[in-house]
Amino acid sequence: MIWNPNKECMSREQMRELQGKRLHKIVEYVYHNVPFYRHKLQEMDLSPDDIRTIDDIVKLPFTTKKDLRDNYPFGLQAAPQSEIIRIHASSGTTGNPTIVGYTRKDLSIWSECMARSLTAYGVGRNDIFSVSYGYGLFTGGLGAHNGVETVGASVVPASTGNTEKHARLIRDLGVTGIACTPSYALYLAETMDRLGITRDQIKLRVGAFGAEPWTENMRKEIQDRLGLKGFNLYGLSEIMGPSVSYECDEQHGSHINEDHFFPEIIDPVTLEPLPAGQTGELVFTTLTKEGMPVIRYRTRDLCSLLPGECPCGRTNVRMSAIQGRSDDMLIIRGINVFPSQVESVVLTMKEFAPRYMLIVDRINNLDTLMVQVELRPDVFSATLDTPAAIDELEKRFAAKLKSVLSIGAKVQIKAPGTLERSEGKSTRVIDKRKLY
Ligand code: ADP
Ligand code: ZN
Repeated sequence: MIWNPNKECMSREQMRELQGKRLHKIVEYVYHNVPFYRHKLQEMDLSPDDIRTIDDIVKLPFTTKKDLRDNYPFGLQAAPQSEIIRIHASSGTTGNPTIVGYTRKDLSIWSECMARSLTAYGVGRNDIFSVSYGYGLFTGGLGAHNGVETVGASVVPASTGNTEKHARLIRDLGVTGIACTPSYALYLAETMDRLGITRDQIKLRVGAFGAEPWTENMRKEIQDRLGLKGFNLYGLSEIMGPSVSYECDEQHGSHINEDHFFPEIIDPVTLEPLPAGQTGELVFTTLTKEGMPVIRYRTRDLCSLLPGECPCGRTNVRMSAIQGRSDDMLIIRGINVFPSQVESVVLTMKEFAPRYMLIVDRINNLDTLMVQVELRPDVFSATLDTPAAIDELEKRFAAKLKSVLSIGAKVQIKAPGTLERSEGKSTRVIDKRKLY
């Protein structure tokens, strides 16, 4: 099923024409309503009339997270406060949080995008769907919630926390779908194990997972443990929230709602646009947003746009899985290391639970990397009862890591349940170099 074939299956020419028209309108709108953009365009000697087709987008300036912070809280808002009916904020761990105001029309477009995603996952009126993203300032909870109501499924606004109660509700209500972070899905699976809730007692069929990077191995692990099919759901508050893009049944990249959010991939260093298929930083321009539109917003997420048609019938361009954030990337002894690379190794080893932590330090002017990983409870009690067995496993793990990361790492194998759990986005890196 496709929620809105008119918009999800347009011909490429029609789509580009629509995007061009909308781009012109949005540039005109921010020019007149946001002094920040007006000044930037004036500095570049650009007027809205210079932007006529979607190809003209490369003439426009970029917007960064710093611009949003510098204009905290409402400096980039284009609509008058009387038109704003909802305010969200992103986490803001490194400075002022980013504040995003939505008009009624923004919220209705967001619900529509979320409905497109859920429909692509096969969710419909007969589903009972639990939203276990955090409700509150974070966009995940309310964003997914409104989408579930739009498709007409029964929403269970579980949020995060109280996981035991939630696990029982999933069983008792016959919940068929869930939206949460992939790490929360695993935490839920662990909780169900602990409570003795088995796969045949639950009816989960669909998972909408996002808000943090995850790998194919992690997908497999979640699917096996919860007995559902897990779909990717991508989004960020600066652009809208969850459902900027979504996977279809083919699960080969996530279709972007590009009638509303125009994507580009740029080289994060030279800022030059990169051709389809190449990995770089994802940049979005909101084409229809009223509350806080952004022009060429640098997401810092690294991925590629996948060329070619999708067998599902949707023509919207697809993006690959996020390979990391440009600000997530660790540079250790000059080598680029992403936490997702460590995850991919952890998940290929059957002895380990999908829990790990990277600890980076600088000792005697030399960067060091330590990877901690947790054993699965069954392995812990059954086979790994001698120091020699642990030693062998450590060596095997260190060798695999080295071949993937190209640098050596110390490894530490931890007992089950000892690494910190998270209910929202998980923290997987402690970079002590930044703490000195
Ligand atoms: P922040 O984390 O910057 O405070 P948000 O809460 O809006 O902002 O989270 C958006 C970010 O979460 C994205 O930029 C991206 O890095 C990450 N993210 C969201 N969905 C996914 C996904 N499906 N896969 C990978 N990363 C994701
Ligand atoms: Zn598709």
